[in-house]
Amino acid sequence: MALEKHRAVVVRAIKYSETSKIISLYSLKSGLIKLVAKGVRKSKSRLSGILEPLNVVEVVFYYKPQRDLHTLSQAAIIYSPIQLRRDAEDTLLALACCEMITRVQMLHDANVAVYHLLENTITAFNSSKPETRRIYFLTFQLQLLRTLGLEPELTCCANCKKRESANWYFDFKNAKITCESCNASISGYDALTDKLRVALDFLLQVEITQIEKPENLVAYQKGIYLFLTQFFQNHLEEMLNLKSLAVLQKMKSLQNEFQHSNSA
Ligand SMILES: [Zn+2]
Repeated sequence: MALEKHRAVVVRAIKYSETSKIISLYSLKSGLIKLVAKGVRKSKSRLSGILEPLNVVEVVFYYKPQRDLHTLSQAAIIYSPIQLRRDAEDTLLALACCEMITRVQMLHDANVAVYHLLENTITAFNSSKPETRRIYFLTFQLQLLRTLGLEPELTCCANCKKRESANWYFDFKNAKITCESCNASISGYDALTDKLRVALDFLLQVEITQIEKPENLVAYQKGIYLFLTQFFQNHLEEMLNLKSLAVLQKMKSLQNEFQHSNSA
């Protein structure tokens, strides 16, 4: 049994016994890991605050090869998103990001890009304003596709490689885009405006903590949301119908808001 030390984001904490919890973390070195935190539910435990979901922590644990569950030895906070926790919607959206990761990542399957995306998304939510937080939520989802190798091709026409077109057509089945002239002979693709394509392409690539004017992208959030929903239906159904009821309700109210808003 080897002692390991990892930097990780707490993604979930569930009761295990009268006194313990199972903590799921997404770690930099090992991806998703599960640790038993013994005694953490006792009132005097210092660990329970440290092991709150969305905290960035350093954990030391006994690693058991061939096992899914390891035993926590020590934990310390590296970063706690205090501002984020004061807002229920920000918290739910950030927890939904964690839940998506637990849906699409296997235990002990390290992905450094997914790790940095998650940690940076929590940082971005921690300083976001209510009117722009959904941009970060949508950006996380787009970039999760990229880090999983499922990035939609949005830079140029898949057929003629042209980079300019007033309108574009996205083939969700093959995750490719075609320009207006190439699409004349192809039917059944979904139309995208050039502005929406540019917004999607920008958010796929940008460093999530460095979006300079997120308020300029709010007009596209409905279009991005609908694009992602359709993309997930075709390629990653695990991202739909998140388990947590609270998150689901939040998603539904978001959906309603997007459907009733007049934005592009
Ligand atoms: Zn073309």
